[in-house]
Amino acid sequence: MHQLGCKQYDLIDRIKDVLTIIDAAEMIGVKFRRRGGRVISVCCPFHDDKSPSFAIWPESNRWKCFGSCGSGDQIDLMARHWELPLQQTIERLASELNIQVENTAHDLRLVEQRKEEANLIGEFNRQEKELFGRLARIEHFIEDKLSEIKTVQDLDKLGDLYLLRTEVNWALDKMQKKSLEDKIEGFSIGKAVLKRWLGS
Ligand SMILES: [Zn+2]
Repeated sequence: MHQLGCKQYDLIDRIKDVLTIIDAAEMIGVKFRRRGGRVISVCCPFHDDKSPSFAIWPESNRWKCFGSCGSGDQIDLMARHWELPLQQTIERLASELNIQVENTAHDLRLVEQRKEEANLIGEFNRQEKELFGRLARIEHFIEDKLSEIKTVQDLDKLGDLYLLRTEVNWALDKMQKKSLEDKIEGFSIGKAVLKRWLGS
């Protein structure tokens, strides 16, 4: 049994439809006369074989070397011949037999891409949560300070806090929205506010 994903099974099936065990054996230069029998015995292409110890079962597309070179189907035979891992053998066969593998490769790329995106979103959520907490604490601090304003002199000294509060509220508002776009916008506003007002 090939240890491969579902998509690979489609590809393997397509390769096997095109390439029989006889084709594969001919491809690697095994010399035999086509016969109607169920088993074909030839000299093994993989070891110094004096007597025909290499058997081919055309009906079930299997091969076996009784001198312990291995056994399997047509893909295993090509893997043994090319001395390649199964995955690379499948890719090479698909290419040589002109079987499209784009979908499979494309799917693998998509999986990788999704994984990367999930990581990025996870990291963003972590940073956003941290920033949100920081901004919320600043908001509380501003409210406290603004409640202390009693005189015009106080207002002169602390008036800028109104502007800061507006910007902080704006960022917090956006960050609480459902859409990722809003969250990202709120995040960058929040970052910019911190940078402008606190230098960090
Ligand atoms: Zn052998």
